[in-house]
Amino acid sequence: MKLHLASGNAHKAQEMNALAAASGLAVEIISARSVGGMPPVEEDTGTFIGNARKKALALKAKLPPEAWVLADDSGVCVDALDGGPGVESAYFAGPQGDSAANLRKLVEVMRGVPEEKRGASFVCVLLLAGPGGVEAVFEGRCTGRLLDEPRGGTGFGYDPLFVPEGYAQSYAELGEDIKNIISHRAQAWALLVEWNKMAAIAS
Ligand code: IMP
Repeated sequence: MKLHLASGNAHKAQEMNALAAASGLAVEIISARSVGGMPPVEEDTGTFIGNARKKALALKAKLPPEAWVLADDSGVCVDALDGGPGVESAYFAGPQGDSAANLRKLVEVMRGVPEEKRGASFVCVLLLAGPGGVEAVFEGRCTGRLLDEPRGGTGFGYDPLFVPEGYAQSYAELGEDIKNIISHRAQAWALLVEWNKMAAIAS
């Protein structure tokens, strides 16, 4: 099965390819570059699902009707910020979507927040859009806490600040092999794999 990835984020694409390879699913992830790049999408629906759907449909419009598209919308939801930046994670520090500035801002707004109030979770919604308006949605969540200062050199975005539950290291210290087993994106992907197996059995 060919899945066209509705994302211009090279890090997400890399994780998605690793997840696909590790899951053993017979799937080929095709970059939006194959059709001239991901069209610009305003992420203004206020929900992960709504934004993922907008991304999926924007790419689908550039492809033949039988194509399958996979979109990812994700973010970090911080307890002390009432779930923010959440769906706004990519634009936390401004509309330019500067991920280093976003990370710095999260460090600053959390400065002085005590350990017991530093809970956070990463959320990932994967949305598959297929022929004839078929749609399937998979949500993964990884709970944990935020560090005072970024640590680690792998991954992207807020990875250096987030320590998943049961670990002492940040996503960026754990590295991609471990992140790709426990992450919000890995959990959503696992649900997609299960769905695919069920669909194969039913067909
Ligand atoms: P969007 O899904 O394009 O709205 O962007 C989500 C934003 O959340 C990204 O710009 C990242 O800053 C952040 N994000 C999503 N997933 C991850 C992750 O796995 N690690 C670190 N940051 C992430």
